[in-house]
Amino acid sequence: MREGLYAIVGAAGIGEDTESYRIGDALPAAVVTPESEAEVRALMEYAHGGRFPCIVAGNGTHLTHLSPHERPWWLLSTRRLNRVVDYSPQDLVLTVGAGITLQEVQDVLREYNQYLPWNPALPTEATIGGIVSSNRSGSWRYRYGTPRDRLLALRAVLPDGVAFKSGAKVVKSVAGYDLHRLLCGAWGTLAVITEITLKVQPAPAQFEAVGWFTTWQDLPATLASLMRLPIQPDGISVAALRGGAFQGLSGLRAVSQVEWEWGEMTSRQTLTVVGATSEPLSRPRTLTVYGGVGVMDAPTLAQPRTLASPEPQPQPETDTSPPLPYVWMEFSGRPEGVPWQVQQLHAQGYPAEPIDATQLAHLRDWLAPRTHPLLMQIFLRPNEVGEAMARWTELQGVSAMAHAGSGVLYVAADASGLSELLIQRVRTLKSKYRVLNGADWLRAHSDGELHRSPLNAGELRLTHALKNALDERGILPLT
Ligand SMILES: Cc1cc2nc3c(=O)[nH]c(=O)nc-3n(C[C@H](O)[C@H](O)[C@H](O)COP(=O)(O)OP(=O)(O)OC[C@H]3O[C@@H](n4cnc5c(N)ncnc54)[C@H](O)[C@@H]3O)c2cc1C
Repeated sequence: MREGLYAIVGAAGIGEDTESYRIGDALPAAVVTPESEAEVRALMEYAHGGRFPCIVAGNGTHLTHLSPHERPWWLLSTRRLNRVVDYSPQDLVLTVGAGITLQEVQDVLREYNQYLPWNPALPTEATIGGIVSSNRSGSWRYRYGTPRDRLLALRAVLPDGVAFKSGAKVVKSVAGYDLHRLLCGAWGTLAVITEITLKVQPAPAQFEAVGWFTTWQDLPATLASLMRLPIQPDGISVAALRGGAFQGLSGLRAVSQVEWEWGEMTSRQTLTVVGATSEPLSRPRTLTVYGGVGVMDAPTLAQPRTLASPEPQPQPETDTSPPLPYVWMEFSGRPEGVPWQVQQLHAQGYPAEPIDATQLAHLRDWLAPRTHPLLMQIFLRPNEVGEAMARWTELQGVSAMAHAGSGVLYVAADASGLSELLIQRVRTLKSKYRVLNGADWLRAHSDGELHRSPLNAGELRLTHALKNALDERGILPLT
């Protein structure tokens, strides 16, 4: 198989890095990087003829969702299909090769003061093909919808090597079925996308992210009230991270070692304090301490006093401190509009403080599937998010993050969280969910009962029928 594939693409099209495309224990037998649609067609035709199973990828950041083939398989990476094919700033329409990364696209658009309103994890690695194929969306879905909503057209190659195009480079186009949208969210199971046309938009004049700590008790009411305010954030999110993870978020507002001087804590105890505000130094109203992490009710102290020579604190391998909810919101728009929206939060008494780009990237990248032995996406109504999050994070070794505005909850377990208790909790789940990493573990520990498809029986039947029609030899994987 390898020789046949390599003969089509030549030495330049052979990838050495199989490890980047690992799926669980499975590695590809070959990594092939075609540089044109003609090469993709020839590769798929060859694979179809020889029944050689294939997995399509961009940069491999999000393959954990797939079940690798049981027989040896090869991997087609689009990373050399990375050209800007056509860009018409006056029409807000961009056509690119599927293997270009989101960051590269944003750099091109920035020259014309335009952008794609997407904020995925790992933007320097995520390819547009991977983003469109997964149709995952981040917190900005609340305002901007999903990748499918921006997809105008694409070119793709079917598993038997036949190329097709669907859609048009205009925003209104109603010819035939929306086949291009069918591939959006198909996770590379139906065809290899080679070229993508997207609707872009003018970049906002201003962007600001603000956040604050709250308590589990207050979280549901806080989220409900945020949804009712007359403001239009890009996204409303909540992170429930453990102390160790907070410290990893370097500088999430005032995460620092302090010496606490009031009340009973005069004995030079060292605490990690989060959630301090810029109010003048005064007596704290409330200080809640969770396993060495303190959350203060505002107003508390201006500058947490850093110990003169703080000893580096060894991080426990498994952090057992209870997590804390941190709410953050992102705003973009006209210069006068953004501060006005933040003022509305302050008027409601929320101590919203600016978060910088590094911290935001840190929060966003937390959602990269490979970071967690188990990562699940649970679909809820927005008003269910606060309580659900509190319940999940009671479990040891379990953290969570939510795109609260859209009702998407991410639950992650570290090695210590992979427990029978977690299995039991998944069993009681009433809502739909999708496992982004760790499906094998979940299945193995539940006798196969907790399979990962979020589809119901009817949807599954149609999905299989469609898959058979387009890929009857099973060259591409099943979801
Ligand atoms: C707004 C937004 C927010 C997101 N947030 C997150 C997030 O928080 N965390 C996260 O992990 N992801 C997130 N995603 C999705 C993420 O950007 C992509 O899934 C992924 O990172 C793409 O990277 P990749 O090139 O490494 O794709 P890969 O990991 O290589 O592939 C991802 C999937 O797409 C398929 N695929 C890739 N290229 C093609 C192609 N050309 N043709 C057909 N199938 C293909 C693969 O088979 C695989 O199923 C978000 C996406 C958006 C738009």
